[in-house]
Amino acid sequence: MKKYDYLIVGAGLYGSIFAYEASKRGKKCLVIDKRNHIGGNIYCENIEGINVHKYGAHIFHTSNKIVWEYINSFVEFNRYTNSPIANYKGEIYNLPFNMNTFNKLWRVVTPEEAKKKIEEEKEKFKVENPKNLEEQAINLIGTTIYTKLIKGYTEKQWGRSAKELPAFIIKRLPVRFTYDNNYFNDNYQGIPIGGYNKIIEKMLEGLDVKLSIDFFKDRENLSKLSEKIVFTGMIDEFYNYEYGILEYRSLKFQEEIINSSNYQGVAVVNYTEREIPYTRIIEHKHFENGDQEKTVITREYPKDWIKGDEPYYPINDERNGELYKKYSKLAEKEKNIIFGGRLGKYRYYDMHQVIEVALNDIKEEFGE
Ligand code: FAD
Repeated sequence: MKKYDYLIVGAGLYGSIFAYEASKRGKKCLVIDKRNHIGGNIYCENIEGINVHKYGAHIFHTSNKIVWEYINSFVEFNRYTNSPIANYKGEIYNLPFNMNTFNKLWRVVTPEEAKKKIEEEKEKFKVENPKNLEEQAINLIGTTIYTKLIKGYTEKQWGRSAKELPAFIIKRLPVRFTYDNNYFNDNYQGIPIGGYNKIIEKMLEGLDVKLSIDFFKDRENLSKLSEKIVFTGMIDEFYNYEYGILEYRSLKFQEEIINSSNYQGVAVVNYTEREIPYTRIIEHKHFENGDQEKTVITREYPKDWIKGDEPYYPINDERNGELYKKYSKLAEKEKNIIFGGRLGKYRYYDMHQVIEVALNDIKEEFGE
């Protein structure tokens, strides 16, 4: 008899949902994480009374009512609506591109005037068969928006000139002909009141959780503890990089405590000029209407990923797609290992998608 039914590697959202649901069904789970905290990438640290999103700004949004009700059963959400702004050389524009943006750019007032202006720009600079991201973006939106709001930001994100980036990265650019600054189109959005940690703490309440334990440092012994393993780490690492390394884009976060109660007046500001090295500044207190005396900001710098860095965004290209397929073939053959979450599946998932997938996996596992 093994001590546990499931060893769950990773105390992020996927691992925690799995542990919670399996325990509810009478199974004994051990959750481990190599970090010294639970929550994975949704973890927040309390600094100056503010919940600081340590691994990038996280805004919950979904149109799936089941997912929304599920997450609300752990914590109440506030009515935060993501309305980021763009700063281009000191000029401020609303995002996503909408009537407020167009009015500021061209002084147009009606949707008809805005559409006409965009069409004029597209017509003037149109390129047949766009060969790179720059040509593709200009075809979709014209030069003014491209130059002020897309070019520099995208080049920083990818660390390459827009002329060297493939056209397929941008398939369409959401344009809204209403005066609506809400970034998401979903029916539900918000930030958990009291922060994301509350969700994970509730899910893992009463369960066996061990932190600062890297599965690969004691793989043999850990594997003996349970009948099955739920693995939410990197799938290529699980297989000792047998076919090669799956690549990611990474980020560097630079945090600063500022002696002012309000630094930028909004949670998210995108810096769209190339000369400023960071892409965004997050001011965390605005996610929760904080009235603390001080404020905490995080500058976000995109960076190339090298093995050992924090893996943030899977690279959606042919090489990595093919490589992942090889690993997933190995995974399919496993009888006692379930690969889950963004690293186990090598896929970018938003939180609502992780919840959806985790709940489906649970149903499958328990034949429900
Ligand atoms: P993770 O949270 O990464 O959890 C995996 C855990 O496994 C980690 O804690 C890790 O330490 C642990 N682990 C890995 N390997 C090992 C090992 N060998 N041994 C032990 N433990 C191990 N989603 C949204 O819905 N809205 C947003 O605004 C949003 N913003 C984002 C911003 C950024 C910069 C990023 C990168 C993601 C964002 N997301 C957002 C996505 C969100 O972070 C994910 O959907 C979610 O955190 C994924 O949960 P997970 O459990 O799959 O992975």
